[in-house]
Amino acid sequence: MSLIETKLTAAKAITVASQATPADIPRGHARLRLAVGSLCGTDLHYYSHFANGIFVLNNPVTLGHEACAYVEDPNGTSLKKGQLVALNPIMNCQECDACERGEENLCTTKKFPGSATTVPHLDGFFRETIDHPARCCRPVSADVNPKHLTFAEPLACALHNLNTGGVKSGQKVLVTGCGPMGLLAIAGAAARGADVTACDLRPKAVELAQRVGASAGLVVGTFDDKDIEAQFDVVIEASGAIPAFNTALKAVRKQGTVSILSNVQMAKAEVLLNLIMLKEIKVTGSFQFNKEFEEAVQLIEAKAIDFDALTAASFPLTQTQDALELMVSGEAFGKIIILGQSTET
Ligand SMILES: [Zn+2]
Ligand SMILES: [Zn+2]
Repeated sequence: MSLIETKLTAAKAITVASQATPADIPRGHARLRLAVGSLCGTDLHYYSHFANGIFVLNNPVTLGHEACAYVEDPNGTSLKKGQLVALNPIMNCQECDACERGEENLCTTKKFPGSATTVPHLDGFFRETIDHPARCCRPVSADVNPKHLTFAEPLACALHNLNTGGVKSGQKVLVTGCGPMGLLAIAGAAARGADVTACDLRPKAVELAQRVGASAGLVVGTFDDKDIEAQFDVVIEASGAIPAFNTALKAVRKQGTVSILSNVQMAKAEVLLNLIMLKEIKVTGSFQFNKEFEEAVQLIEAKAIDFDALTAASFPLTQTQDALELMVSGEAFGKIIILGQSTET
């Protein structure tokens, strides 16, 4: 079984080649074998445009920043050979003010794999052999399913948004947009004891949201914004659509919070700013995560969320391009996962 790696060489072009194992493992890094990875909206942008908004790739790169892996060579670190670990893709500097405050998501010199934000680009996780800083590897017990553990990174993003939005037990929460991130926010908020309503254009996505924790569902076009006016303590915007943002401003109660989780692609839009003033709405945003990575791994270990229901499809690493094409089609509900050769059964 030869080891393989995938590379995005241009928009819509993924190559699969055998991977030359680099001789030396960098200090403080462990050598890992991919168990399971998963596709993110970021991967989709790079795949479709060779860029994610203003971040343009300079050269071919391996995509992927959501994954878990098996330790092959601990390289003198505290990890153990054969251990399954969740990969935290944020490789922060550990020295700047943001890092000292525990806000490694805001570290200006952090490295992030499979992204044009790091120059020169670091290869991502859609390859068989990965050298990763041991401090960014979170070991889990042997009974954790790697197909669930790959959700650690996106779940951490969703939990960070719940934290910036102040979501607590007993609150009424609306989530607009039931893509993978919205669904994880719904599952996470429900696991916290919030009463969650899910909203999406697609009835099937709303149905899925109700399977993973929403107590009620709204399909866009079948209700009037007036029906849900001022009903929610927190509204999480996870669709990236401006009409949804305006629905959020109407649906949130006075002095409630609108928390932006979506990767909004348009910079200019007509937003009902007057409502923010009249209702004393707090509008917050979130970017990646910090301590929430640990919280996410613990939720996965506790089997608190139905990740099987949240998984739309799985592909072997060799078919990464097919996986991305399925995501482009918009016909997948939930997360698309990528299986490493050691997990391909
Ligand atoms: Zn992601
Ligand atoms: Zn830093």
